[in-house]
Formats: sequence, structure tokens, C-alpha cells
Amino acid sequence: MLGLMQSQQLLISSLIEFAERHHGEAEVVSRRVEGDIHRYTYKGVAQRSRQVANALDGMNLAFSDRVATLAWNGYRHLELYFGVSGTGRVLHTLNPRLHPDQIVWIANHAEDQVLCFDMSFLPIVKAVHSRCTTIKHFVALCDADKLPPDTGIPGLLSYEAWIGSHPSEYKWPEFDENSASSMCYTSGTTGNPKAALYSHRSTMIHALAGALPDALSMSARDCVLPVVPMFHVNAWGLPYSAAMTGAKLVFPGPAMDGKSIFELIESERVSFAAGVPTVWQMMLAHMQSGKLRFSTLKRTVIGGSACPPAMITAFNDDYGVEVLHAWGMTEMSPLGTVCTLKNKHLEMESAEKMKVRLKQGRGVFGVDMKIVGDEGEELPWDGKAYGDLLVKGPWVISAYFKGEGGSPLVDGWFPTGDVATIDPDGYMQITDRSKDVIKSGGEWISSIDVENVAMAHPAVAMAACIGMKHPKWDERPVIAVVKKPGSEVTREELIAFYEGKTAKWQIPDDVIFVEAIPLGGTGKMQKVKLREMLQDYKLPGV
Ligand code: AMP
Repeated sequence: MLGLMQSQQLLISSLIEFAERHHGEAEVVSRRVEGDIHRYTYKGVAQRSRQVANALDGMNLAFSDRVATLAWNGYRHLELYFGVSGTGRVLHTLNPRLHPDQIVWIANHAEDQVLCFDMSFLPIVKAVHSRCTTIKHFVALCDADKLPPDTGIPGLLSYEAWIGSHPSEYKWPEFDENSASSMCYTSGTTGNPKAALYSHRSTMIHALAGALPDALSMSARDCVLPVVPMFHVNAWGLPYSAAMTGAKLVFPGPAMDGKSIFELIESERVSFAAGVPTVWQMMLAHMQSGKLRFSTLKRTVIGGSACPPAMITAFNDDYGVEVLHAWGMTEMSPLGTVCTLKNKHLEMESAEKMKVRLKQGRGVFGVDMKIVGDEGEELPWDGKAYGDLLVKGPWVISAYFKGEGGSPLVDGWFPTGDVATIDPDGYMQITDRSKDVIKSGGEWISSIDVENVAMAHPAVAMAACIGMKHPKWDERPVIAVVKKPGSEVTREELIAFYEGKTAKWQIPDDVIFVEAIPLGGTGKMQKVKLREMLQDYKLPGV
């Protein structure tokens, strides 16, 4: 016997319809690329999202066609979040921090049809547009009178003129909730970047679970600042959860420095902010030097890489702000765990409580976790045994876009590439990464990419890149190099060799010349051994 409830499809368009109807006056505030502050309401977001929808229909795009963005966190990007997915097209958030060659590769792989970009990224678009073979329309996210002449980009439109010529009446289409809604490439895997392809259903369930009190705890009384970029796993789903709850949204635009973020928190009375540790490090440094205090901030979600204990203490003890340590990944939409305390922890001594807070947290309903040993055997949740962390759930990927890399699943579980313990209360703690990628300022750096550049130098016989701990950027790449016999190259020459071949922040901080790089039985570099060799090494200037 089937239930007798209405079977309405879970569609992203319903979020903005709800926000308009129930929280139409709630504000959305953005620091713009233009430098000023833009302010309107969910009502405005809804109207302009419908203009986007009409404008896209006017381009005769097919259902599921990809519409790419190269944009900061801001109101126009938010309108594209709803306008693109709401019409059944797929929002593809490109990461502007990637090297232009990678952007070209990804845009072509995704077969993007439209590219909407912030004016700060005009130089990138000028450099890549002729190589992006599938993009038919380029849209600059600016007013018509801000569109520069002679960009060389064919048919370049201004966003305001483009949507301005379309009405704000639109009936959102109904379709299967399993249809793709957005996509995000990750380079946290081996080989070429692969895309996680989210669906309306996965996004909606993720947004619901993300808003729960023991997850991100979002409500109509919150004022939310997503510092985590909208080009990084949909800003952890915050734009969706905010519309679902009617929370005020504040977007930082391109100004991610400590001073700008602090000023925005204060001027907009932000109660809840989310970002990677690097951003908070810059903000705390700014606050400490100016002896500044928060007047409204109550909690921050910190994730993307391990949150240093000193940061949790600083927020908690010095500023009275609760830190929610969270873990997830692109393949998980991204929420996996959030570290909120249980009743039994509340009476603990602060040192004991800190041990709990340092963990990556408890699984959010919807994400099932397990840790396994070398033979795939499940390990106990005793807080001591560590093994490969596997997950499953309705917002965890089943395959990468276009089936790249084959099936990633093992018996229906997704191997995260992280190594973790889980304690009897279900708190997961990452102990290590089984991958060798380097995480710098919240972004991945592929060690293979860094090695490949060095290996292209005529004097280099072998190169191995590893991440070294860095107080500001979390990790920075260094490259260990074996010179070819009889060849010479200096540290400075090799670093200069990277110029123009990779993004600036992916250039290694240092070169270490070694006699040999340890190799395993099958000829693979053994980076664990290399780390042991370099255990006394210190990054320059650290
Ligand atoms: P990404 O797909 O770029 O979001 O990266 C996901 C990876 O970042 C995870 O597999 C972890 O290795 C790492 N990560 C994310 N959050 C945390 C955290 N709170 N602590 C430690 N590592 C984390």
C-alpha cells in the first residue's frame, strides 16, 4: 500500500519561491566587485532569478545544458544559483583560482554553453575564451555602461542589460527531482579534475539537513556570512539553507582580507560565518592587532582542512564565539560531519571539552560512515582504531561526471581518501590523508602537477612534491629534486621555471636538493619515507 501524500518533486526553484513568499523582506547584502555595498531582499532575488530564467530560455539552451560562472560570493551569483538550476540547466561554478589552462580544460570537459563572470576575472576570460570551444555566450556580471569596449570576446553581454530586457514573471518548470542541478570539479583526486554532479533532490535534502540545529543551525533570526566561496561546493550549501530558513545573507565579494571581513561582520550584524581556517587566521590577526571585539557573531563553522586548536581557543575563550569544526568534501555536497557537543560533554572540564571540539564531529543525518582496515574489514568505533573512512548517503556521489575514473564506490560506499578514527559517541577525527595532494589556503594543489613542471626542467632527474605545514596557509608545497648527473640548476632558477606554467600560489615555496628519492617496490615514490627524511626541514621564513 502506498502512502497518500502528494508526491511533489524537490526542486531548487521552490527555495526561492518560499523565501520570496515567507521572507520577502529579509535582506541579501553584498560587497560588490565595484567596491560598494549592494542591498536588497529575497523578493528582489526571486524577481531577478526569474529574469535570469527568461534570459536563459531566450538563448535556446537545452535542458541540462551547463551554464558556468567565474564569480565571487555576491547577489548576481545567487540569482544564477536559482535562475540556472530552476530552469533545469546545470550551474557549473568554475574556480577562478585555477591556472587558465585548467579552466579551459574543465570548461571544455563540462561542455559549458554560457559563461557568466565577474569583471575581476575579465583578464582570465580574455586569455581563455578562444580555447573554450563549447561556450556560445559570454556574460559580464556588470551594468551595461561598465562593459569595456574592445575586449575581443565575441558578443560579450552585460548581465544587467541581458536580464534587464526580460520580464520578472516566470513559471518555474516541474521536472524529475533527480535531474542535475549544479556541478563542481575537484582536483582532490588523481589524474584530471573530475566533477561531482549534484541533483535537485540531493541539494534539497542536503540543505534541509544542513539547517538542522546540530548541523549548521540556521534560522530566520540568523545573519549568515558565507566566506567559503560559492565556487567551492556551493558554499557548503549555505545559499540554499539560507533561502529555506529566511536567514539574512551577507556576501563578501572579492574582499577576503581580515579587515574587510571583520568590518562586514560588524556593520551587517552577522551572527554566523563559515569558512576555511586560513580566512579566520587573517581575521583573528587583524582583530588581535587592533584589540577589536565582535558585537554580534555567535558561531563560526570552520572546515575544509583541520582547524588548529589555537583557533578554536581564540574564538571560544577570547571572543565568546562557538566554533563548529566541520568535515566534508566536494563529492559529499559537502557536509559530512559537524562537531556539536552532546549533553554529556557540557559539564566537562574545558580541556576535556576541547578534545571533543578538535574532532571533525558527528555524522549529519543522511551520511553514514565507517572505517575499514587494509583488508576492508570494518574497524570498531573506539576512538583508537584508525582506517580508511567510507561514506554513503543521498548527497554522496555515485559516479563522477561522464563516468570519469570508473565507479568510485566500494560495495556501495564512497572511499573518502581520508584516514580517521570514530569514537563510541560517533565523533570522527581525521588522522591523516591517504592522498598526497596539498591543501593551501583552502585550495588543493596537486603534487603531481607541481612535480611535472620540475620534471620538465632539463637539469632535473626526479622530483617529488610534498606539503609542509605552514602557519598561515595550512600547507605549502616544497619540491625535493634529484639533479641529473653533470647538470646544474639553482633553487632560484627552478622556482623561476614555474612562472607562467602554473598558478602563482601553486609554485613551490622551496626546492630541496636530495641524492635520491625513496622508491617502493613498484617504482612509486614513497612520500612517507621522504617526509621522514625531511623531518627537521623548516619552510623558509616560517
Ligand atoms: P574538498 O573536496 O576540496 O572540499 O576537500 C575535501 C578534503 O578536505 C577531505 O577529504 C579532507 O581531506 C579535507 N578536509 C575537509 N574538512 C576537513 C577538516 N575539518 N579537517 C581535516 N581535513 C578536512
